Amino acid sequence: MAIEELEAYRGRALDALSAVSDPASLEAWYRAHLAPSGEANTWKRSIGQQPKDERKAFGQAINEVGAALADAYAARQAAVAQAELQRRLVQEAVDVTLPARARRAGGLHPSVIALRQIADVFCQMGFTVFESPHVETDYYNFEAANMPPHHPARDMQDTFFTTDGQVLRTHTTSGQVRAMRCLGPGPIRVILPGLCYRNEDVTTRSEMQFHQVEGLLVGPTVRMSDLKGILMAYARAMFGPDQDVRLRGSYFPFTEPSVEVDIRCTLCGGDGCRVCKYTGWLEIGGAGQVHPVVLGHGGYDPAKNRGIAFGLGIERMLMLRHGIDDIRHFFRNDLRFLANFR
Ligand SMILES: [Zn+2]
Repeated sequence: MAIEELEAYRGRALDALSAVSDPASLEAWYRAHLAPSGEANTWKRSIGQQPKDERKAFGQAINEVGAALADAYAARQAAVAQAELQRRLVQEAVDVTLPARARRAGGLHPSVIALRQIADVFCQMGFTVFESPHVETDYYNFEAANMPPHHPARDMQDTFFTTDGQVLRTHTTSGQVRAMRCLGPGPIRVILPGLCYRNEDVTTRSEMQFHQVEGLLVGPTVRMSDLKGILMAYARAMFGPDQDVRLRGSYFPFTEPSVEVDIRCTLCGGDGCRVCKYTGWLEIGGAGQVHPVVLGHGGYDPAKNRGIAFGLGIERMLMLRHGIDDIRHFFRNDLRFLANFR
């Protein structure tokens, strides 16, 4: 009687096991049957209740059932693990036939590209590059450039001041006296490229930061006519071999005489158009003969030496060359704009 019930239990347990298909229900089946509190062990504890002469055979039958369930469990466990692995392989499959994502390479900023081109042009004429600090003392930015305290020309340049009384350089002219003191007292021929900063309202025509290239020649034989030749070479390298340069009288505190530098209009070729305000000329920078006071600050005797200097706006040059109508494009980091200059 008990043996028959035991056999019926074996059938039920194996049926239940064959329905198991995932790790959670396999675990539940194990707890119900093979665990210490499971049904297979309940059978073992019932041996003592059997008639004495049947106990041996009943015990053997229970052991057989227990072994059969353990074997079936092990086989099921392996099958479930295999099925689980298959499921994960399908779920985590990678489609190797998908096209690869294109990697976009970075590029140099248009102003940096232009600075390098300009450095090439001037280096061919024997100039070297001289770097000076962006955070500058009042002395080098203003006083050494012939703008002592209370000089009205300081109002021409709205200035950013640091909390310790220094300034963000408003022009690359701040490096002139540094270059003279560092490289003098002999003749020098340098360009000073870099960012300048002005506390100005940002508009299509003006930004709080912009790149300039300053040029400086000092020596006993330097003359204003050299200035025009150098600027002509620059204009032709940047705007084409037929370019022309015009110098127009102006005022800067650090040069005497001072000139504005114009090139023939790149749009109308000099006939007159809206961009050049019907003059036929476009301004690209300022220049002049270095003021004797500035030469003195640099350690040169103005009676024996002369200097010429020029300051060229880089973004201004690029706007003219490429017909860009808004200087703010240069500092917006918009890839749609920047990618045009690779
Ligand atoms: Zn024009």
